[in-house]
Amino acid sequence: MVIDAHLDLSMNAMEWNRDLRKPVFEIREQEKNLHDKPDRGKGTVAFPELRKGNIGLVVATQIARYVAPDNPLPGWNSPQQAWAQTQAQLAWYKEMEACAEMKMIKNADELNAHVDLWMNDENILKPIGYILSLEGADSLVDISYVERAYNYGLRAIGPAHYGPGRYANGTDATGHLNENGKALLKEMERLNIILDATHLCDDAFWGAMNLFHGHVWASHNMCRKFVNHNRQYSDEQIKILIERDAVIGAAFDAWMLVPNWKRGTSTPQQMNCGLEKVIDNIDYICQLAGNSLHVGIGSDLDGAFGKEQCPHDLETIEDLNKISQLLMNRGYSNKDIENIMYCNWLRFLRKAWK
Ligand SMILES: [Zn+2]
Repeated sequence: MVIDAHLDLSMNAMEWNRDLRKPVFEIREQEKNLHDKPDRGKGTVAFPELRKGNIGLVVATQIARYVAPDNPLPGWNSPQQAWAQTQAQLAWYKEMEACAEMKMIKNADELNAHVDLWMNDENILKPIGYILSLEGADSLVDISYVERAYNYGLRAIGPAHYGPGRYANGTDATGHLNENGKALLKEMERLNIILDATHLCDDAFWGAMNLFHGHVWASHNMCRKFVNHNRQYSDEQIKILIERDAVIGAAFDAWMLVPNWKRGTSTPQQMNCGLEKVIDNIDYICQLAGNSLHVGIGSDLDGAFGKEQCPHDLETIEDLNKISQLLMNRGYSNKDIENIMYCNWLRFLRKAWK
């Protein structure tokens, strides 16, 4: 089995207008005359390919940014609009449950039953399990919305995304957690919501490590060692996450894998960006940890980029399975490989939801 801890599935459905029940190649074909987004016709993720790759459990996001008038990033002009967008995304997940394509996983019993189904049942039309996560907390209009979201199944929150946020500043920004950010962490701790440390700017990251006493993971993050950018983790950040018994998800976005990537210009081939670069990052985290217990997969595939910005030897998400062989080539044991492909996320969730 494979677990992928970061996919923006509902964003693809609601903003890219992709019906993920169709195979990847059909969706690509449907988009061949569209030019509104750079990744049109280059998607890699859909339910049939998830099933073919035995990717039976994912962490699936809601995502909607609020932008103040001076913020040049794309986003919504009020937190209320951002909230409404996340509710549309939730409605899509619910529709996918209604047609048995997906199944929300909210607690340890549901997790164990779902893993059993994927490991032992030969029936090929198994629902893809999803744990609901919020990428960037801007859409939580105020702190009371955290419990509302918990009640419909939200189990992880990354307080920040790109730029300035209402609760915490994210990638390419700086600045410590504000009072709202601190209150958010407190409320997450009370409700046992997992903190996703991905995208927190350095100041907010270290603040969160001090203030938050609940369970922490980093759903999709790579190492500064290979691409020196604030979106990536320094060795010190990786070490504190290991100390907190976190799992870090390996992301498959080319600019995070090879240095000097130029968006829209560089190509995976020309930059020699293959899956081996993902293995370099996975191996680096394992070497810092001294074991294989703190890294998993959080591919972020189709997170506003497609094949044009993926490792060149990945055609669709089914190819996550190639990671196993590549790890074997580097001398990783079967147990280590299982840890990385799915066992670490399972262990983390079972502990968090005990
Ligand atoms: Zn992200």
